Amino acid sequence: DKLFSGFSKTRDNLAVIDELLLYWNLADTDRVLDELEEALLVSDFGPKITIKIVETLREDILSGKLKSGSEIKDALKKSVLDLLNTKGNKTELQLGFRKPAVIMVVGVNGGGKTTSLGKLAHRLKSEGVKVLMAAGDTFRAAASDQLEIWAERTGCEIVVSEGEKAKASSVLSQAVKRGKEQGYDVVLCDTSGRLHTNYSLMEELIACKKAVAKVLPGAPNEILQVLDGTTGLNMLPQAREFNDVVGITGLILTKLDGSARGGCVVSVVDELGIPVKFVGVGEGVEDLQPFDAEAFVDAIFS
Ligand code: GDP
Repeated sequence: DKLFSGFSKTRDNLAVIDELLLYWNLADTDRVLDELEEALLVSDFGPKITIKIVETLREDILSGKLKSGSEIKDALKKSVLDLLNTKGNKTELQLGFRKPAVIMVVGVNGGGKTTSLGKLAHRLKSEGVKVLMAAGDTFRAAASDQLEIWAERTGCEIVVSEGEKAKASSVLSQAVKRGKEQGYDVVLCDTSGRLHTNYSLMEELIACKKAVAKVLPGAPNEILQVLDGTTGLNMLPQAREFNDVVGITGLILTKLDGSARGGCVVSVVDELGIPVKFVGVGEGVEDLQPFDAEAFVDAIFS
């Protein structure tokens, strides 16, 4: 599938240790672990996780707990899976019981925010959920148009700003009001994504969050950050900054059908303790999958 093919490069990088493990004996341990360390770093696992994984394997090999190449490989896969499951196990959307649930989607321009929002709308709609979209990116003129195309494509209603300089927060609060009055299940809110170094974006996101909570205490139920999977470890500082300011509840990693560097998925979950909820594997309406840690591990290790 698309996830599997998107990770072909990561899989190739990690496959270099397979042959070494096939003929592994105790005397080879340092060489195998050096190669493994290199492969993990090249795949963007980052130094912290790489050292954690390699040193745990070394201990378990030297203590005699791992006795064969295949046991080492299994332990490696399990350690990655455990990392994902420990800190990122809430992969399902947490929408609560009150209607409408509000989902804010945030992230910098170009990461795939609008596309992901559209794909998410499609996914929810096909589950029978009544979705209202809100065009909260009032900064970029084309953003509303692009979202309107997705609304049409998915058959969802959309609230767009009236007038040129409407505030994002007022568009979102209008949408949530309408969602409440007209019995929507979910209000899916787009937000601006101009460069995050511009602090006013963060102020705007805080204002959006407050505006939504004012209409519906407890909202937003989810704040999902969209991150471009092809940027590898570079996504980390960006994710950290958004999380520090608005509090991210879940991640959508996009473009994993491209040349994604798989290790960053593990790194971002471990660093932030935030679950990956969905992965983007293409540009079509169906190309958003719920994140499945086991399928991910199977896709990066052959
Ligand atoms: P935004 O600026 O964050 O709203 O980003 P867009 O949603 O406009 O997406 C930027 C580009 O990335 C567009 O060309 C999308 O079609 C493309 N894109 C978004 N998600 C994916 C994905 O999962 N896979 C691939 N291959 N392309 C994607």
